[in-house]
Amino acid sequence: MSDEKGKPEESVPLQSQAHDRPETFHHSSVITHPSNRLFVISGASGAGKDTLLLELLKRHPELERCVTFTTRAPRVGEADGVDYHFTDEPTFRRMIEEEALLEWAEVYGRLYGNSKEWVLGRLAAGASVVMRIDIQGALTIKRKMSEAVLIYVAPPSLEELERRLRSRASESPEELAVRLNAARWEMEQIPHFDYVVVNDDLEDALGLIGCILRAESARIPSGKD
Ligand code: 5GP
Repeated sequence: MSDEKGKPEESVPLQSQAHDRPETFHHSSVITHPSNRLFVISGASGAGKDTLLLELLKRHPELERCVTFTTRAPRVGEADGVDYHFTDEPTFRRMIEEEALLEWAEVYGRLYGNSKEWVLGRLAAGASVVMRIDIQGALTIKRKMSEAVLIYVAPPSLEELERRLRSRASESPEELAVRLNAARWEMEQIPHFDYVVVNDDLEDALGLIGCILRAESARIPSGKD
């Protein structure tokens, strides 16, 4: 990720630092409708999660997107309240203090987090929610809400991922190297997810996610947590 000035950020962490508290949200206790599910879309940077999510939301209007709060500046074309809730750091820190976030993470020096109240509220109301977050965040959510459905969007291969990142040309060579190292670690996390969708062909990937949504809407909650 580049910062607003387009300068490579120096002490960039290999992976994001996830910050979570040892609490558990009892998702199954808020299940009031058989189809309300929390779908967490994650995966390697450059695997095409964003395009996939936008298409998914168009084709599945029943899904509600959880809009993440972030302290990073908007990129060209991004709208506040649609792509992210762009916020300043003091406001974000206050949300952390007030434990208003389901999980939060520092990714390349910027803060990201989702509103706990919004997510739990929508699930309790019977909605199915989809969020797109990084791997650490996805694993944190799974620890807190075992009923959350984790979908890993993978590139066909690391070589293809590298090609996609290079063609995007939004990173400096240093940032690209950091992204690729992080992607290697990220691919190793696939076994912790519920589903993996290889995004080789957008239509195929969307079709597969559609099948996952249908199957999950019919799944009987375990009721164990
Ligand atoms: P970007 O700034 O490029 O849109 O996102 C940077 C990274 O932050 C992506 O990997 C994205 O998935 C992740 N991210 C966005 N929202 C959240 C969130 O609420 N929690 C966590 N843990 N990561 C997030």
